[in-house]
Amino acid sequence: MADSPAPLLDDARCLCGSGEVLGACCGPVLRGQRRAPTAVALMRSRYTAFAVRDLKHLLRSWHPSTAPAREELADSLAEQVRWLRLDILATEAGGPFDEAGVVEFSALSKGPGGRSVQRERSRFVREDGTWLYLDGELG
Ligand SMILES: [Zn+2]
Repeated sequence: MADSPAPLLDDARCLCGSGEVLGACCGPVLRGQRRAPTAVALMRSRYTAFAVRDLKHLLRSWHPSTAPAREELADSLAEQVRWLRLDILATEAGGPFDEAGVVEFSALSKGPGGRSVQRERSRFVREDGTWLYLDGELG
C-alpha cells in the first residue's frame, strides 16, 4: 500500500466530525504542516488518518514504545473497513500545557461483517511539544 493517502479537499467537511472544514482541522496535521495542539486534536487526526489510510501520519503520531510494525499496520489498513463516525465521549487533561492526556471515544465502522462500534479510552503523552498516542483500553 502506498504511503500517500488520496488527496483531501481542504474545504470539505472534516471526516473526524468536528464540524470544521478539513483545512482548519485534521488536514494540516496529516500533512505535517501543523502539530496537533491537544490530545483530542491528535485523536481526531488519527481517526481521519485511519479513514483515509494515512500510514505515515499514524506511525508518526504513535509512541515508539507501542507503535506497531509498519507492515502490520499497513496490513490492518488494507482491510475493507470504512470509518463512518467518531464521537468524543470524554477527555482528561491533554491540553497545550499538559504532558499527558486521556481521550475516550467511540468510532463507528463498517466492514465485511457489518457495522461495529469501537469504544476506547486512549492515553496520549506529549514529548518535545508533540502529542503521541501511547495506548488504549477497549471499553
Ligand atoms: Zn478533523
